[in-house]
Amino acid sequence: EAEAQARERALPARTRDGRSVAAAANVNTPDQVPFALDQGAEGVGLMRTEFLFLERGETPSEDEQAETYAAMMRALGGRPLIVRALDIGGDKQVAHLNLPREENPFLGVRGARLLLRRPDLIEPQLRALYRTARDLVPAGAPTGKDAPLSIMMPMITSVPEVLAWRETCERIRAEIGAPPVPLGIMIEVPAAAIQADALARHCDFFSVGTNDLTQYTLAIDRQNPELAPEADSLHPAVLRLIRLTCEGAARHGRFVGVCGGLAGDPFGACLLAGLGVDELSMTPRDLPGVKARLRASSFIALRDLAARACAQADAAGVRALDGDGTERSA
Ligand code: PEP
Ligand code: MG
Repeated sequence: EAEAQARERALPARTRDGRSVAAAANVNTPDQVPFALDQGAEGVGLMRTEFLFLERGETPSEDEQAETYAAMMRALGGRPLIVRALDIGGDKQVAHLNLPREENPFLGVRGARLLLRRPDLIEPQLRALYRTARDLVPAGAPTGKDAPLSIMMPMITSVPEVLAWRETCERIRAEIGAPPVPLGIMIEVPAAAIQADALARHCDFFSVGTNDLTQYTLAIDRQNPELAPEADSLHPAVLRLIRLTCEGAARHGRFVGVCGGLAGDPFGACLLAGLGVDELSMTPRDLPGVKARLRASSFIALRDLAARACAQADAAGVRALDGDGTERSA
């Protein structure tokens, strides 16, 4: 029985009519990797590196960071790993960085904005990552979606930010003598989703952060308990922005992952697959349910489901589409 379940978890998330969606896990430390693999993860779609900085009283050195990234890669044995550069600000404050207090931290110097202002934070991290690539990415390793190591930047809102980010990465890569590493960006601000076609020109992939995309689209603080029921990632406005993101990426042949909470909800995952998302990355324990649901669905029906969801007036209308069986009928 247990063995049958383990076999089932290892099956790919392929719809009945043959559309495969990569199933990945959000994992921050190497010791969590075995559990994620056991749950059916095919890689890590989001390694949040804030945790290296938050759980201790000082900034981790370049060497320490390189050790952690190398340990992650070794634990994954060549499966894809996407490491997100430090995303500080908003709800993630780091006392020892002594950053100025802001009136509205979620709308302040957060994510990419902070990193582009603080070379002392991003450069050691990038050096650690490119050293890992130099030492552990074998010649002839896959590039693109299956690359064993990719790097992404949080909270991007504009093309100039992406250009500055690429330039920094390229300079450090050349200094280290590392092979090229796919460079992606998080899509978690409406401006980025709306301009996805322009941004896709300058990066290798997108990863949609539905937690922040929902917060910024609906203007609801993601931590406000009073408004939690309304902070619904199934809001059609959020889904339409994800649709725009997929369309912009497709125009330049880039792949789209989703690493926010919506990816781990079986119905949400169906909608995302129907919108054309290539990879879903989630909390490891959500993987079996999402994979089973996608395997029971047909992609043609999911595309139709996603189109109808985007046309709903509100999140309740989208939720009402769940369980009417349509995504299962071919
Ligand atoms: C998101 O915003 O959806 C996301 C994945 O990033 P984080 O939750 O770390 O802000
Ligand atoms: Mg986010």
